[in-house]
Amino acid sequence: MRALITGGAGFIGSHLAEALLAKGHEVSVIDDLSTGSIDNISHLKARPGFHYVIDTVTNEPIVAELIDHNDVVFHLAAAVGVKLIVEEPVRTIETNVHGTEVVLKHANKKKKLVFIASTSEVYGKSTDVPFRENADLVMGATTKHRWAYACSKAIDEFLALAYYKEKKLPIVIVRLFNTVGPRQTGQYGMVLPTFVRQALAGHPITVFGDGTQSRSFTYVGDVVDALVTLAQTPAAVGEVFNIGASQEITIRELAERVRARANSQSPIVLIPYDQAYESGFEDMPRRVPDTSKINRVIGFQPRVGLDEIIAEVIDYFQSR
Ligand code: UDP
Repeated sequence: MRALITGGAGFIGSHLAEALLAKGHEVSVIDDLSTGSIDNISHLKARPGFHYVIDTVTNEPIVAELIDHNDVVFHLAAAVGVKLIVEEPVRTIETNVHGTEVVLKHANKKKKLVFIASTSEVYGKSTDVPFRENADLVMGATTKHRWAYACSKAIDEFLALAYYKEKKLPIVIVRLFNTVGPRQTGQYGMVLPTFVRQALAGHPITVFGDGTQSRSFTYVGDVVDALVTLAQTPAAVGEVFNIGASQEITIRELAERVRARANSQSPIVLIPYDQAYESGFEDMPRRVPDTSKINRVIGFQPRVGLDEIIAEVIDYFQSR
C-alpha cells in the first residue's frame, strides 16, 4: 500500500513509517516538527519508497496532493503530552480539531481509508475499568484544560464516524493507551522517558500525586504492528478499537523499577499535582483497556513486557 503518515516524524509515526517500509509499502510523511523531530526519520531518508514533507496538516493544498497520491492515511499529527496540553490549550484544540477536519475532507474526495489516532484520555475520569470502546466517557469541567485534549479527540472521533455514516468514507478509530518506547521524549510530560532521564542523570525521580495512580504501558512496536494489520482488515472499517496492554503498574512502582534497572541512586520524590501541572489538576486513578475487541478482529496480543521496554528506553537515552 501507499501510506501517508501525518505526524510521521513523531514518536509513534516514525516507528509506523519504519514498520511499513520494512513490509515493502511506500510511505509519505508530513510533519511540521512542532513536537516531532527530523532525527526520528533521518535514517529513513535514503530508503526507496520513502518521502517526506515538512509542513503542517492544515496546509490544505499540500495535504490534498499527498492524500491523492496515497491509499491510506494514518492521521497521527496532534498536540501531545499532558504538559503541553495544559500549557497551550489553544494550540491543542486548534491542531487536533482543525487538522482532522482537513484530513477527512480531502480523504473523502476519493474515499481514501483514514486512521484516526485517538487516545485512552477520552475515557476521562471514568472508574469503570477495564474501559470498553462503547463505554460512557466521563469528562471534568471545561475550566480544567486537561479535558480539552480529551474533548478535542472525542470531536475527531465524532467527525470521523459522521463521515463514515453520512458519506461512506472508510475510517478506523484507534484509542492508544500509554504507548512507550525509544524516541519518545519526556519534553511534553510523558512519564517513562522522564523517569529514565532523571534516573540516568542521578536527578530526583518526580512522582506526581501520591504515586498510587496506575497505568498500563504498551510497546510502540506492538502498537504499530496492530495499525498495519488493521489497515489490511476490511472488518475494521467504521470501528473504534482500544490498543493497549492490560498489565497495570502504579507510577510509584514504575519509578522504583526504572531506578533499579538504571542502577541509579536517584531519590524518588512526590510532587503535588497542582505544582506539577496547574491548580485543581485532575488525574485518573487507573487506566486499563479492554482489548477483547481488537483481539477478536485481528488477534492482537502485546508481545513486549514492561521490563524489556524499560531496558530499551534506557539503552536509547544512554546511546544519545
Ligand atoms: N507522572 C509523574 N511524573 C512525571 C510525569 C508524569 O508522576 O514526571 C504521572 C502522571 O501524573 C500520570 C502518569 O505519570 O499519573 C502518566 O503520565 P503521562 O503524562 O505519561 O500520561 P497520562 O497517562 O497522564 O496521559
